[in-house]
Amino acid sequence: MLSVWSSSPSDILYILELTLVVLLGLAFGSFATMMAHRGYILKFGKGWQGDDSKSTRSQCPKCQAKLGVFDLIPLLSWLFQRGKCRHCRAPISPVYPAIEVSVLLMSLSFFFLYGFEPFALLFCVIAASSILVGLAVYDLRHKILPNQMVLALAILGLVYRFWPSSYETGIKLQAIEYLGGAALYAVLAFIMGWVMQLLLKKQALGMGDVKFFGAAGLWLGISQLGAFCILSGVLGVALGIGWQYVMKEKVFPFGPALIASFYVVLLLNGSLLP
Ligand SMILES: [Zn+2]
Repeated sequence: MLSVWSSSPSDILYILELTLVVLLGLAFGSFATMMAHRGYILKFGKGWQGDDSKSTRSQCPKCQAKLGVFDLIPLLSWLFQRGKCRHCRAPISPVYPAIEVSVLLMSLSFFFLYGFEPFALLFCVIAASSILVGLAVYDLRHKILPNQMVLALAILGLVYRFWPSSYETGIKLQAIEYLGGAALYAVLAFIMGWVMQLLLKKQALGMGDVKFFGAAGLWLGISQLGAFCILSGVLGVALGIGWQYVMKEKVFPFGPALIASFYVVLLLNGSLLP
């Protein structure tokens, strides 16, 4: 059994690092919920579940009870209260803890594969995970990828790729690979959308998807374009079939397939950290 007291300093350091990643993952998980929810309020002037409150999660949508600090602890508050409001026992959507767990797992998977050094890059990935999950939930509900969230993802990608210690090959090649990647991915998505529109006689790829391709190119680079396109194509077809089967709707959101592909390619990209 692992005992903190009999461990070497490196073990203790590892436990501290792991704890920090877990806390950050959960905190950014809450942030993902807030982004998906608040983004909707900003756009439509009302909350998800039909409530008109302008708040995010600061009050119960049913009984309007103000939530305290304890109610807002990610994941744990939901588990301890067994998914119900403390005041009126109204069920709280399991989407909230699911979002938090997703961001936590994405943060942990990156930490286990690439470690803690340098922390700035890990932090970028944890923050990006939060945006990716927020975008996926938002797109599943409203079939749109909000500009502000895609822009935030792109800015994090710039920091990630141009952080001083992350230069693999020198600044010029770095710029060609990742700034070129952003342009190439976006142009390719635009052309694909245009061709599909001609063939299907309806809009297939929205401008939100095109912008997301640009942000993905900034993170993944020209060298990962093939992997990203193939994976998002496969996942997109799977999601489309599943969506028609379950939701009985012809139009399905493509964003979650793009977002899952983005994260898988980022995670499995061998040239990630120095
Ligand atoms: Zn309540």
